[in-house]
Amino acid sequence: MVMVAGVDWPARVPDSLDRVDIEVRNCQLCRLCETRTNGVPGEGDAHAEIMFIGEGPGFHEDQQGRPFVGAAGDLLVEMLRVIGLRREEVFITNVVRCRPPGNRDPLPDELDACHAYSERQITLLQPKLLVTLGRFSMARFFGTGPMRDLHGRVRDWQGITVLAMYHPAAILRTPTPEMRRIYEDDFRKIPLLLAEANKKRAATEAVAASAQPVTPLDQLPLF
Ligand code: URA
Repeated sequence: MVMVAGVDWPARVPDSLDRVDIEVRNCQLCRLCETRTNGVPGEGDAHAEIMFIGEGPGFHEDQQGRPFVGAAGDLLVEMLRVIGLRREEVFITNVVRCRPPGNRDPLPDELDACHAYSERQITLLQPKLLVTLGRFSMARFFGTGPMRDLHGRVRDWQGITVLAMYHPAAILRTPTPEMRRIYEDDFRKIPLLLAEANKKRAATEAVAASAQPVTPLDQLPLF
């Protein structure tokens, strides 16, 4: 048996989203486990092409053990609808998976403790597009900087296209038509970025498939 995040696994249980789910709900890697009601591993289509990474569970998420089920989640779902997607078609998680008390900002050691779960979910899901929601999630992939400058930016991270966006709660705090337009514009980038990412991945896979195996020198025929 192997003890991982409070769970005793038989050796050689392969990693899976379900396994991450169980480990997060039993996780004791940081102090947030002491005050949570439920760990919130994330949820969505196990074959999703798009993965959203938010900040951390709030009150409702902590109660239900599901990400983005409060007002911020309602806005996220509304924005997904603008581009013809349903929340069941994407995967949604957070940089910390237990609610920080009083909804305070997550602390650096809490972010670090939870990062391995993000890495495993990304590896298992292999999303084509990763969308960061808010500054803590953005900081992992783009570094720190003002959101007003960095939102809408795109980068490649280990072959995955990453798009930086405001957290929906930020739009709810400043509900002006201008902020709403900015948010919609950023969401409207998703279909094109996804199409480009799919083309890039298909091209990479075609090159890999056509590569001839290299014959070792000592096995070349002698003439
Ligand atoms: N805000 C987040 O960042 N994540 C949630 O799951 C809910 C609200």
